[in-house]
Amino acid sequence: MAASLRLRGAASGLRYWSRRPAAASLAAVCSRSMASKTPVGFIGLGNMGNPMAKNLMKHGYPLIIYDVFPDACKEFKEAGEQVISSPADVAEKADRIITMLPTSINAMEVYSGANGILKKVKKGSLLIDSSTIDPAVSKELAKEVEKMGAVFMDAPVSGGVGAAQSGNLTFMVGGVEEEFAAAKELLGCMGSSVVYCGAVGTGQAAKICNNMLLAISMIGTAETMNLGIRLGLDPKLLTKIVNMSSGRCWSSDTYNPVPGVMDGVPSANNYQGGFGTTLMAKDLGLAQDSATSTKSPVFLGSLAHQIFRTMCAKGYAKKDFSSVFQFLREEESF
Ligand code: NAD
Repeated sequence: MAASLRLRGAASGLRYWSRRPAAASLAAVCSRSMASKTPVGFIGLGNMGNPMAKNLMKHGYPLIIYDVFPDACKEFKEAGEQVISSPADVAEKADRIITMLPTSINAMEVYSGANGILKKVKKGSLLIDSSTIDPAVSKELAKEVEKMGAVFMDAPVSGGVGAAQSGNLTFMVGGVEEEFAAAKELLGCMGSSVVYCGAVGTGQAAKICNNMLLAISMIGTAETMNLGIRLGLDPKLLTKIVNMSSGRCWSSDTYNPVPGVMDGVPSANNYQGGFGTTLMAKDLGLAQDSATSTKSPVFLGSLAHQIFRTMCAKGYAKKDFSSVFQFLREEESF
């Protein structure tokens, strides 16, 4: 293993790999990796998949690309990468494939559909799904993939488009532990943290739990800021106080939802970019399904799901999820 790679936390049972940014120059990483590069398949070149695939290219991996929306492949074709006409054809040409798709339905179609990966997958292939989908679907796909003599791992991400561009995503990986090293060789090109979570589906479980907490804390931050503003407080001052007090959280100190409080976040740009309200509503729906199947009480998670669903119906679907602040500003209660 290269000097810039570290496996840590084995004693605690947590396999955690972290890339130290200063440890090796990109040129050194590229020349090291150029030596053994076979093409990697990449399916789903959207907001996240596009920069992730570009980071694989930067590390010297030739790509075999497919997206149902041809325009998404255009710049990769112009850059000389192979663009293919179906997931099955990607599987015929590449024995390592990464998928980055919106929902469980899309993932099922790409893997098990009429022209899906499973139609032509080669024995021994490694299939990594980085979409956020239902853990039960990941487990089902893993079984089908295993029947074909290949390996499936779920590896959803945390970090958003900015982290995808800078190669600083966190990957939460579920699957056979012996395959983790092979998965992290690729995932480490796109993320600064690659965490082994356990059996297949546990990566999705970690992701869904994190996003449920994020949704709840964002709503809490937005409600707090709205109340404070209506009480006459300056939003920057209130943010400063919260961030030096016990109410501090990522939504208050890193991704504040109030326009004018922070630069470089979606609230500073009319809630454009970032993590769409539709995707948050989807992830909360997955949390609800998981809560039902495990008989777990998630009172606030359920409420958060209803709030983000309502926002989708009221014109916020394409805005970043921190637009819950704007949604609350427009609401008045007795
Ligand atoms: P996106 O909608 O921007 O991109 C998805 C891409 O998949 C699109 O290009 C679409 O054309 C393609 N696609 C859809 N169905 C397909 C099919 N059947 N065959 C081939 N291609 C197909 O979504 P995104 O923002 O890139 O998110 C992808 C996944 O990552 C989602 O599950 C999301 O929840 C998760 N995620 C997103 C963010 C974020 O900030 N956007 C952050 C963390 C995780």
